[in-house]
Amino acid sequence: MAPDRMCYPRMNDRAERTRSSSAAATWLNPERWLASIVESSDDAIIGESLDGVITSWNAGATRIFGYSAEEAVGQTVTILSWPGEEARVAAYLAKLRQGERVDHFEVVRRHKSGHKLLVSLSLSPIMDDDGEIVGIAKIARDLTAQRAAADLLAERDSQLALLTEKEATARGEAIFERRFHELLEHAPDAIVQVDSQGKIVVANFTAATMFGYAPGELLSLRVEELIPHSARAGHDQHRAQFMAANRTRPMGQGLDLHALRKDGSTFPVEISLSPVRAGEESFVTAVIRDVTQRREAEVRMRDLQETYMAELRERQAEAERLNRLKSEFMASISHELRTPLHTVIGFAELLAEETEAQLNDRQRRFLDHIRKDSEHLLGLINDVLDLSRIEAGGLTLHTELVGLHAVADEAVESIRPYAESRNVAVHLAPSMNFDVVADRLRLRQVLTNLLSNGAKFTPAGGSVSVRARRDGHLVEITVEDTGVGIPTDECQRVFEKFYQVGYTPVGVREGTGLGLAICRQLVEMQGGSIWVESELGQGSRFCFTLPAVVV
Ligand code: ADP
Repeated sequence: MAPDRMCYPRMNDRAERTRSSSAAATWLNPERWLASIVESSDDAIIGESLDGVITSWNAGATRIFGYSAEEAVGQTVTILSWPGEEARVAAYLAKLRQGERVDHFEVVRRHKSGHKLLVSLSLSPIMDDDGEIVGIAKIARDLTAQRAAADLLAERDSQLALLTEKEATARGEAIFERRFHELLEHAPDAIVQVDSQGKIVVANFTAATMFGYAPGELLSLRVEELIPHSARAGHDQHRAQFMAANRTRPMGQGLDLHALRKDGSTFPVEISLSPVRAGEESFVTAVIRDVTQRREAEVRMRDLQETYMAELRERQAEAERLNRLKSEFMASISHELRTPLHTVIGFAELLAEETEAQLNDRQRRFLDHIRKDSEHLLGLINDVLDLSRIEAGGLTLHTELVGLHAVADEAVESIRPYAESRNVAVHLAPSMNFDVVADRLRLRQVLTNLLSNGAKFTPAGGSVSVRARRDGHLVEITVEDTGVGIPTDECQRVFEKFYQVGYTPVGVREGTGLGLAICRQLVEMQGGSIWVESELGQGSRFCFTLPAVVV
């Protein structure tokens, strides 16, 4: 270390001598020791008088500021000043003069060569023996490189971030664009964009295929090339109107639209239009769907439906014809059967009168069988005849205002002998004074049927009764018995033809299963309805309604 290269406040000679004389080989003189620390420091250590004259200047100061000790000592510190920083430095110096230390404030300084330096300054006062401030010791650390590196790093980081972001965006955009492109190209519908002049500016792959062009061939064609000649007139005007209206909508609503292929063939389409604006330019995007298959399917469907309906109508007509034939046949056969049956019954009755000869018990029993079965057969034939006539539409009703009480009384009296023979009481409620709009004969038939069923399905000791009540413009008539009842789940079915309840006590299973079916037909023909309320073993309540007034 060359002492001539450094300059620092010198200790007085006496002190130096004392120390030197007592110095041992291993013991270093404190001034020299201090000087060597100052000299080897990386920081600039500068002594400065109160009026700003540089008094000491170490190697660190030379390295940082570029001036040698010789050049610097004796100069004012202004050689290091950077314009605009004076005020800040002066403020710190003022603090220092007040006896305060100032540590690590960052300030811009000037290198000998004129370039800018960023330094961290720590200032401490230099006192004399009396404690008076006689100068300033400055330690300056060069932050320029460090800050530059940090700035560089920060810059690099932000550049990198920017780059990464840009790359990511660019990559994302590229992927998005590719996907969008793929989507556009291979969309199931043709997508065509047309400018305000009607020139095609975008057409996807599907459009080219759909219209029979090579990829790219559609571009710069006029859109009219895709429209059948018959529909071209006025297209320009429509396009202009659409662009002015500026909203997405289907094209030609309610119209059968067709498109034209390159080979001149046409096909049905559905088109949705959207306006697009790009800067000053206006475009129309058309999404075109080939609906050939759908239309074909619709036509097939319609044809099928028509064929089916025609067939159905034919079958219905045939079924009605057969039904009528059957009913006519049943009606005529029943009629034919009734005549000889009446003869059988008539002669059986004659025989029973024993006017010609006395019958023995066996003959009487046989005759009884003939009579009973003939009557049963007659009942069956009458029922079949009735139902056939009703179904064939051959039954004409003669409706009039009928006094219910009188008709019900006739019906009750007609079945009374039968009921009494079975020890079943029959009652007619006194309040039956209603008039109903009905066919007198048919009303009596319904009542007789219900009453005889009641008597038939009621064990001895039971009863059957008839009553009525007014219900609005209807009269509701009820035939109630205390008999075997009907399982609830069979209550609907007893009105079907030939239906007989599964559980019927032995001995009462006789009849045709047609009586209630006839009753229903007759009641409904007269504008009423019929139903039964019953439970097995709890008796039955057959109810039917008839209009009370002529409507
Ligand atoms: P049927 O000639 O058998 O009486 P209906 O059509 O008059 O024919 O009756 C059909 C079936 O309904 C009967 O066989 C019987 O099982 C049931 N039924 C009808 N009326 C009554 C009643 N009052 N009580 C119980 N069951 C009845």
